[in-house]
Amino acid sequence: MSDKYDYIVLGGGIVGLSTAWQLQRQFLHKKILIIEKESSFAEHQTGHNSGVIHAGIYYEPGSLKAQFCREGLEQTIEFCRENNIAYEQCGKLLVATNALEYQRMLALYERAKQNGLAVELLDGEQLRQREPNIQGLGAILVNNTGIVDYTEICQKMAECFSQLGGQVQLNTQVISIQENNDEVIIHSDTKQFICRYFISCAGLMADRVTSMMGIKTDFQIIPFRGEYYRLSAHKNSVVKHLIYPIPDPELPFLGVHLTPMINGDITVGPNAVQGWKREGYANINFSVKDTWQMLCFPGFWRLLKNNLYTGLKETKNSLYKPGYLRLVQKYCPSIGLQDLQPYPAGVRAQAVLKDGSLVHDFLFAQSPRSLHVCNAPSPAATSAIPIGKYIIGKVLESERKEAANKVLVDN
Ligand SMILES: Cc1cc2nc3c(=O)[nH]c(=O)nc-3n(C[C@H](O)[C@H](O)[C@H](O)COP(=O)(O)OP(=O)(O)OC[C@H]3O[C@@H](n4cnc5c(N)ncnc54)[C@H](O)[C@@H]3O)c2cc1C
Repeated sequence: MSDKYDYIVLGGGIVGLSTAWQLQRQFLHKKILIIEKESSFAEHQTGHNSGVIHAGIYYEPGSLKAQFCREGLEQTIEFCRENNIAYEQCGKLLVATNALEYQRMLALYERAKQNGLAVELLDGEQLRQREPNIQGLGAILVNNTGIVDYTEICQKMAECFSQLGGQVQLNTQVISIQENNDEVIIHSDTKQFICRYFISCAGLMADRVTSMMGIKTDFQIIPFRGEYYRLSAHKNSVVKHLIYPIPDPELPFLGVHLTPMINGDITVGPNAVQGWKREGYANINFSVKDTWQMLCFPGFWRLLKNNLYTGLKETKNSLYKPGYLRLVQKYCPSIGLQDLQPYPAGVRAQAVLKDGSLVHDFLFAQSPRSLHVCNAPSPAATSAIPIGKYIIGKVLESERKEAANKVLVDN
């Protein structure tokens, strides 16, 4: 016997939880299930991130990323306030340390204004007044950037979902899925489930879930490790704000930053190095299946060719701690090698197209009875509440279309 649901959401990361909770809140009478393969929530990207509530300074004006991030910051803070979750809007400084970065900083400042953000431009002296341990020619101050523990947000979302009647199936890995005219049948390693509509928020496994359903897509998930250090405890007051370098506009996710965490620690990182295992967090990770799939994908080789120099530089700094340190000392010279303590890495799920290009915005795929989040890049933790709303809108629209088609066929 299979359990039957109106909606099944695969994935107990922040995107899946936000979607399921808001869907249940909107449709109290519907039967909704979250399926997660781990024994608790936020075990992958969501629980291995920097804990930043981003303001959305970098993103292309008009993109989904920019829109979701702006709304996400406000809604994340509202969620924290309503549910007594600790957060702090300590602000962020984007520091220019040379003439090229200074030029890029001015362009970024203009973009931030186009995105409707409240930002201030500081000169070197104003920067020193705010952060005596940071050096630079100038900086952009983004006052409303904040910090939070996203695992705690996930636990609270799961609790809200369950209180509304939602059901959760942990320790359950989806291994195959069949869609027919009326329902979707989901096979896991333990049992079978049936639903009217299926939503996949599988993060690092997004492409494997679309393949299970035979949905044709043009991307593959390539894992990028984000490696961190934690500063020694006596350095925990070295900065008050989040400190970021000015990014290269072509590779905006590169550049290690200093991040005060909500528990009082400060992390350094993350970098972005090629991962050889999708869910590999230890120092040495390798999966034959993940690596083979990557090597067979033409987009991987094109990506490698286009970014060889950057890739080698990131790998060198990953293996050679003094190289990593230099990236931080550029703007915070008082940090020494002995201050960099071990801290767990994260792995980004980066959708890459066959032509080797990185997908920077959100990407979705659909079949008549399913919707798949194929790319939910940073700042998807910040943006999870508006993303959830957006997904629900797309699901309802797709269901309306299906119902209309059915009426036409029946007539
Ligand atoms: C290093 C790093 C730093 C980041 N920093 C920030 C930040 O500071 N701020 C910010 O806003 N964003 C940040 N991000 C981005 C953000 O964390 C992610 O975009 C977001 O967490 C994605 O959430 P998700 O729910 O899509 O994926 P995930 O959190 O990865 O969740 C996917 C879930 O699906 C489950 N799953 C997959 N396949 C199956 C299956 N077959 N059966 C059952 N379950 C399955 C997995 O176990 C997992 O729990 C960062 C990301 C990384 C990696």
